[in-house]
Amino acid sequence: MPSVYIETFGCQMNEADSRYIAERAASAGYSVAAAAEEANVVILNTCTVRDSAERRAYGRMNHFKALKDSDPSVRLVVAGCLAEQDRRLMRERAPHVDAIFGTAELAQLGDQLAAWEADFGESRAQRDARDDMLRFALGGRADGVADAFSRLRAFVTVQRGCSYYCTFCIVPHVRGRFDHRPRGAIVAEVRDRIAQGAREITLVGQTVNAWRDPAGGADFGDLCATVARQPGLERLTFISPHPKDFTEKVLDQLGAIAQLNPRIHLPLQAASDAILRRMNRKYTLASFDRVVTSIRRRIPECAITTDLIVGFPGETEEDFEATLEYVNRGVFANAFTFIYSIRRGTPAARWEQVPRTVALERFGRLLDAQNRVTRAYHDRKVGRIVRALIVGDSKKDASRLTAKTVDNVTIVARKPPDYSDSPACDDHPYARTPWLDVAIESAHVWGCTGTALGRAERFAQSARAVTQPTISLI
Ligand code: SF4
Repeated sequence: MPSVYIETFGCQMNEADSRYIAERAASAGYSVAAAAEEANVVILNTCTVRDSAERRAYGRMNHFKALKDSDPSVRLVVAGCLAEQDRRLMRERAPHVDAIFGTAELAQLGDQLAAWEADFGESRAQRDARDDMLRFALGGRADGVADAFSRLRAFVTVQRGCSYYCTFCIVPHVRGRFDHRPRGAIVAEVRDRIAQGAREITLVGQTVNAWRDPAGGADFGDLCATVARQPGLERLTFISPHPKDFTEKVLDQLGAIAQLNPRIHLPLQAASDAILRRMNRKYTLASFDRVVTSIRRRIPECAITTDLIVGFPGETEEDFEATLEYVNRGVFANAFTFIYSIRRGTPAARWEQVPRTVALERFGRLLDAQNRVTRAYHDRKVGRIVRALIVGDSKKDASRLTAKTVDNVTIVARKPPDYSDSPACDDHPYARTPWLDVAIESAHVWGCTGTALGRAERFAQSARAVTQPTISLI
């Protein structure tokens, strides 16, 4: 069986696209490889949101040239936003790339994989003769490789593209304007994922709450209400909404959904109205704050997280202080903070830039402030028992497990004695009872640690103890 290796850069949208590519590959007869040097087809799913992601993608293309040099039958494919933006340039800079597919061409990528599939049987002898010296670890992270826990979380794409044209963002230029998926197709995929064992469904869109059913005009609140009625749905969440698209009606509907995770990622970007105008964000700090209040009224325990950009062109010390002051109010449970980076082809790229040293210094202050708030949010969990869905082994310590609470806090706990180390196995007992009850003992900026006390098959069920009681024979 030929195999495909997928490496993903960037946002959840790209991760969802990589899952789609893995599924198309599987239905075309491929297995998904955990290492590039084991694969017949190597796919880089790229991103252009930051300059560093772009440079890294070109670095990886050059890296993978060694694989093609040692075995010309290997196919190298570049997909995603960089492929869309740099199609011509990429052919010059990386002529060894076999095929380039933009963000709207994933179906064609699936067709191409099916067309190549027959070729790989003939090339196997050549592949097996590949110089072992060249079977070196290439780094990076394999995506689409299934383990016992991967089916517990399902990401369902509801929309592609964006029509808002924020002046710093490349997305509308490379992914195009809104393209909303019909409600029937979304709900059918949700049902499939639940049938395959998903405990948590994440609806994914670049501006997810702007979704509209192309046929009937139903809005995002209607969509979530429909998804919540699907039998067997345990938890529901979504990424990433735009602050301006949360109407009172949509929030009323969300507040009435029992399975909704108490977390909403609400990208603020900056708290100065002058900067928000320059960013073309279409809201003011006051209207953003009204959305925060409305969310809290409907979902009292909701963890609100955000994205913040420091050093946007024209940002004065006063503008920055407004963002710092808002963060210090403790609004956000967590935040992704970025230093503004130029994106070719966007309006802000042509504007006078904030000096790098100034942006760096502001970034440090903002990070310190948000880290304090995040740590305080995590501190409040110490001494409590939280229910969290298993992700898998802790990346830093294989004797521990990682899980995520419904408010998206990372929890690390020692593996219980009856936990078996075979996460690739489909019927892993902990994948059948994946909700862990963890007594939280310590808090950090990154999350919390604790001891697993119980586990449950369903979120709403009571837990059974993680270890069998000792039977005394005396
Ligand atoms: S809302 Fe703005 S930042 Fe978000 S994807 Fe659209 S253009 Fe980009």
